Amino acid sequence: MKIICIGQNYRTDNTTVPEKPLFFMKPETSMVVRNRPFFVPDFSKELYYEIELVLHINKVGKCIQPRFAHTYYDAIALGLDFTAMDVLRQCKEQGLPWETAKAFDYSAPIGEFIKKEELGDLNNLHFQLMKNGECVQDGNSSEMIFNFDNIISYVSQYVTLKMGDLIFTGTPAGAGPAKINDFLEGYLNGTRRLRCRIK
Ligand code: MG
Repeated sequence: MKIICIGQNYRTDNTTVPEKPLFFMKPETSMVVRNRPFFVPDFSKELYYEIELVLHINKVGKCIQPRFAHTYYDAIALGLDFTAMDVLRQCKEQGLPWETAKAFDYSAPIGEFIKKEELGDLNNLHFQLMKNGECVQDGNSSEMIFNFDNIISYVSQYVTLKMGDLIFTGTPAGAGPAKINDFLEGYLNGTRRLRCRIK
């Protein structure tokens, strides 16, 4: 399986709106499941959290048209796209690939998947990230620049989607630093669906 991540998919004050989705990938070894802790890697002094809605792909597809894209995912979870921000800054400055900043081990904690039928209007999914009990990110799927169907259609032009693949769909404003002993909790439509202790 593979993890595809969309960048810059919510309007924030300091980002320009992209004309088409930006995506990168994380390997299977970046996953953290069952609310296990996240261990800060030695190579970064500036670890950032990004709470995101994550799609679970349920069948093989290539060059999927937007109007059929909704049939290619069956469940949604909350995930954290952990980023070594100091490393990412260097990668961008030097025009290097992002893997050392984004694809490292355990950089993708993922909460429980909820069947999409149980989530109501998928264009109005409210999600929040709490850090030590305080809300630090607050987003809604209605605020995405590229919606789920457009993301699936775009990515599948380049990469065949397979059952079990995951798509992180971008983070709303408020991504920020996480430090050892912080406790992160993700809420989807008011219910806690992700927990992550930073160690
Ligand atoms: Mg992200």
